Amino acid sequence: MTRFNPIESLAKARHEFGEHGGVNASIESSVTFTVMRADKMPELFHGAATPEQGCYLYGRHYNPTVIHFARMLAAMEGTEAAHCTASGMGAISGIALQLCDTGDHAVVSRAIYGGTFALFSRYLPKKAGITATFVDVTNFAEIEAAFTPRTRLLYVETLANPTLVVADLPKLAEIAHRHGALLVVDNTFSPLIFAPAQLGADIVVHSLTKFISGGADSVAGAVCGPRALLDPLYDVNEGSLMLLGPTMDPRIAFELSLRVPHLPLRMQEHSRRAQVFAERLEAMGLRVRYPGLPSHPQHELFRSLANPEFGAGGIIALDLETSDRAARLMESLQLEERFGFIAVSLGYFDTLMSASATSTSSELPLEDRDRAGLSEGLMRMSVGYTGSLEQRWEQLERAVRKIL
Ligand SMILES: *Cc1c(COP(=O)(O)O)cnc(C)c1O
Repeated sequence: MTRFNPIESLAKARHEFGEHGGVNASIESSVTFTVMRADKMPELFHGAATPEQGCYLYGRHYNPTVIHFARMLAAMEGTEAAHCTASGMGAISGIALQLCDTGDHAVVSRAIYGGTFALFSRYLPKKAGITATFVDVTNFAEIEAAFTPRTRLLYVETLANPTLVVADLPKLAEIAHRHGALLVVDNTFSPLIFAPAQLGADIVVHSLTKFISGGADSVAGAVCGPRALLDPLYDVNEGSLMLLGPTMDPRIAFELSLRVPHLPLRMQEHSRRAQVFAERLEAMGLRVRYPGLPSHPQHELFRSLANPEFGAGGIIALDLETSDRAARLMESLQLEERFGFIAVSLGYFDTLMSASATSTSSELPLEDRDRAGLSEGLMRMSVGYTGSLEQRWEQLERAVRKIL
């Protein structure tokens, strides 16, 4: 089998021109669109007249600029379609509510983004009567046992936030499908590195806020998959995106569409630097979790599933044992070395550092944090690519020596 190549897929995607022949697509900022004949309007409402036929209705529904960007994301993931949303959480909550009705159930990885954990553990049970069982994605027996006749989806992250556990997507897809459920995968940490839909995932969600934006300047999300699963999201009577309204603004779609062509170069550089730092930090005796290291528990699995052109990603998890040591290292790196910033989020061109247990994963109860392997001294580093690699390493090494 030849491996899916996201770069070639992107290049093959329809090439579009701006309305004056510009090399960039135009921004269509209109929120409402004319019809030439009055009898066309009802067809738009029933979904009989579609954007593919050049028919648009209203900005919360479909917008040409947003669709243009969505086509790039679908090409990148190798899915039939994609829909863009105002945030990653907009995509995740939208698809969860679309696939599950009241009384339905989800099997969810315990090692996930804190907001997603709160959605499945607190918000959906309380507001919608959709329940979830949290599992260790590497424990297939536990996963099997969690399915109920009402389980509609298995939800995982390809590289878990922040523990970098690798999900065995072909195996998880097989389990989900055997139970009549769908596999939904958050690929935010590993765009291009993994193509989850090629490995069995039914739906791929992204927070575009991170690597795909790369500028820490826009909040955005997307859901990618087959039309049969995605089009209901825009149903005027029952569509979660249509009715809850996490719509992407066309100006954001335009901005982000200019970032996708250089995403491959950026991912390669994030990964190249993270790999070097991970190896050198480990050699200094630190406990480093990085899928590109042979010491990572799923290193071989990672290598068998990942697209080798893009390395092992830009995120390193350092277990510094105590939150005090993590705080001292981050402060030294920010204030003395000017190596990076103490800030949440990831995928930025500069390095961002945070202590996950007390920030982006603080939604997880202590017991679940322990079970997810998330110690209080865990420092997540999203490795940037400004400055030279050796200059950055000198700064990092000096700061690390101070806490050893
Ligand atoms: C940030 C993040 C989200 C949420 O995305 P927003 O764009 O902030 O709504 C979801 N999943 C993962 C893995 C993330 O890192």
